[in-house]
Amino acid sequence: MDMKPFLIDAHADILYRMETEHADFYDPASPLHLSYSKLEAAGIDLQVFALYVNPPYTPYEHLAKLLAYIDLFRTNVCVEQGILPVASYKEIEQNASAGRRSGLLSIEGGDFLVDDLRPMRVMYSLGVRAMGLTWNHGNAIADGVGEENDRGLTTFGRMVVQEMNRLGMIVDVSHLAAKGVSDVLEYSSAPILASHSNARSVHPHRRNLDDEQIRGIIQNGGVIGMTFVPYFVAEGKAYITDLLRHVDHILSLGGEDHLGIGSDFDGITETMVDLKSGLDYPKLLETLEKEYGRSVTAKICGGNFLRIFREILQ
Ligand SMILES: [Zn+2]
Repeated sequence: MDMKPFLIDAHADILYRMETEHADFYDPASPLHLSYSKLEAAGIDLQVFALYVNPPYTPYEHLAKLLAYIDLFRTNVCVEQGILPVASYKEIEQNASAGRRSGLLSIEGGDFLVDDLRPMRVMYSLGVRAMGLTWNHGNAIADGVGEENDRGLTTFGRMVVQEMNRLGMIVDVSHLAAKGVSDVLEYSSAPILASHSNARSVHPHRRNLDDEQIRGIIQNGGVIGMTFVPYFVAEGKAYITDLLRHVDHILSLGGEDHLGIGSDFDGITETMVDLKSGLDYPKLLETLEKEYGRSVTAKICGGNFLRIFREILQ
């Protein structure tokens, strides 16, 4: 009997490195943090493939790149014996019972959207099921954490959130500035996601969530993906023990049903000392089980994400 918990990684920039470095996902010698063989070693059952484009770009250039990345995903990731694409909870279940690994697409930053929701609907029809509203800079939807200003959701941004709710696309608030996060919590009718963020009161970084935001996401029924970006985890060298302080804190705020994992592997050049690639995932799972027990670990590793996927990805 397989006692390994169902493992979901809600954020990695594998496609970005495949595009920019021509890294081969299926090459066992690939430098990717999450090549297919490392994903297997990690025991990841569902990987969210973020569509991240390096700025600067115009909205149209962003759109063109997103389409190119989706083609890359379909052509070079979703292959016969490898990753199978999923766009619904039913497909996730089917793949799991067939012992296959799933790949789900998400967009990191809605910069391709200017004043028209139709390109987003097309993204949905292409299988995209989550979207971070911004990256660090602002766009037509809201401002990111890197901006001086924080306008919150624009009028168009509210329409975007409403349409995502209607379609069944998960709203991701990682990278979004504070007023944007509180606006999303107010306007979203569905649970939201902070796919790759840690706790700011444990380590002060603008990309981490403060306690009010964490409580808001808990109240909303959403999920926070703890992330392995070393400078979001601790000052200087970061270890799994430092990451556990974020877990402890989020659990202490009542987050047992609202915590997951979003590594940001392949989106970072520096890594944690003892969490360098997919190969180190089993070590993390072992530590989580030792610290928090089997049932809480299963929720953190994938159970909580599965709950919102079941609710939103019809
Ligand atoms: Zn990111």
